[in-house]
Amino acid sequence: MARRKYAGRMASLYLHIPFCVRKCEYCDFVSGVAGEAEIDRYLRALDRELELRFPGGLAPDTVFIGGGTPTRLSATQWLTLGGILRRRLDLSRCAEFTSEINPGTLTPEKADALRAAGVDRASFGVQSFHTRYLQGLGRAYEAGTATAAVQMARNAGIARVSMDLMFALPGQTPAELREDVDAALAHDTEHLSLYALTYEDDTPLTRQLQSGAVTPCPEELEREMFGLVGDMLAARGLPRYEVSNFARAGAACRHNLVYWTLGEWHGVGAAAHGLIGGQVHRNPPDWKVYCDAIEAGRLALQTEAAMPRFERAETLLLMGLRLTQGVELRRFRNLAGEGFHTLCAAPAARLIEQGLLELNQTHVRCTNEGLFVLDEIIVQLAAGMKAMPGTVNDQ
Ligand code: SF4
Repeated sequence: MARRKYAGRMASLYLHIPFCVRKCEYCDFVSGVAGEAEIDRYLRALDRELELRFPGGLAPDTVFIGGGTPTRLSATQWLTLGGILRRRLDLSRCAEFTSEINPGTLTPEKADALRAAGVDRASFGVQSFHTRYLQGLGRAYEAGTATAAVQMARNAGIARVSMDLMFALPGQTPAELREDVDAALAHDTEHLSLYALTYEDDTPLTRQLQSGAVTPCPEELEREMFGLVGDMLAARGLPRYEVSNFARAGAACRHNLVYWTLGEWHGVGAAAHGLIGGQVHRNPPDWKVYCDAIEAGRLALQTEAAMPRFERAETLLLMGLRLTQGVELRRFRNLAGEGFHTLCAAPAARLIEQGLLELNQTHVRCTNEGLFVLDEIIVQLAAGMKAMPGTVNDQ
C-alpha cells in the first residue's frame, strides 16, 4: 500500500449505521427504517465524510460500527462499505474491529462481507434466549436465531464473540436470567454485556407501562439480578470490568474503554460524535440532513466545540466510575486543575461513609453496592463539584 501521512494522532473510529429492520418496542436510539436507495445514498455520504474528514488518511487503533443495525445492510452493501473503509483508512494498525450484529439479519454471505471489510469481533444484540421476551421487546427474531448467527460469524472467520443480554424484563425470573447467561456462555462468548431494561420516554413499551399492560420488574428483584450475574460470571471466568460488561482475561472491549477513560475517537455518520484534542464534534441525528450537507460538499457538523477542562474532568468521573478499576486520580487532577480530594471532598466523604465509594492512593472507584446506584453517585459528585468555589472551569 502507498505510504500515507496521517493527520492527527492515533485515535479510534466510531461509524454509525442508523437503519433497522423495524423499530423495537423499547428503543429511543437514533435509528429507523429505510429503503435500499436511501442506504446506498448514506454509504456514499459516509465515503465522502471520511474523505473530507481525513484527507491524509487515518489509521485507527480500533473501529466500532454501531447502530441502528449495521447488519440491516445487504451483503452487497457491506462489500461496498468494506471498499470504502479500505480506500479511506489504513487498518494495518487496527487492534480491534467490532460490528454490532442483530442475529435475525445475518446471512452467511453477509458474514463473509463483514469479515472482508475487516470485522474481527462480532457484538450480537441477542437480548434474550427466550422467544416470549424477544416478542415482548419487539425483536424481529426467535430464540434459536442467535445460535445460527454466531455459527455464521465463526464460519466466516470472525473469532471474537460478544453478546448483549437484557434483564429486569417484565415477568422475568432469576432462573430465566441464569438460563440466558448459561446459553450465552455455551456459545463460547468471550464478552457479555448485560443491561437492565429501561423505560425511555415516548416508546411503545413505556406507553404499555403507563397503560398498565406491562408490570415493571420490582427494584429489589432487579438488584438481585444485578448481583446474580456478577457472581455467576465471575465464577465462570468473566468478571465484571464495567457496570454492565463482563469479559474473559484480555477480552475487554478496547474500543469502549476509549470512551470510559475519555480517550480520543472520531465519530462518523449521522448522530455520531467524537472527541479529539479536547474538541467535541457532533453530526446531526437525521440521516437525510446529514446526507444533504455532505452532498453539498461540506462536513455535516451540527456542533463542534471545545469541551471545557472542568467538564472533561466531570465526564471522566461520569464515564470512569462505570469501570470497576475506577478513575485514576492523577488523570483527574490533570484535567480538573485540582485534586479529587479537594474538589469532591464533601460528597465523596458522604458516599464513602455510605459504603458506595472507595478511595486508595491512585484511584477512586465504586463499590459493588455503589455500581448499582451509579447514576445517583454521579449526580452527587457532580453537584458537589459545582458547588466548590473558585474551581477551574475552563481551559
Ligand atoms: S435493533 Fe437496536 S437500534 Fe434498532 S430499533 Fe431495535 S433496539 Fe433500536
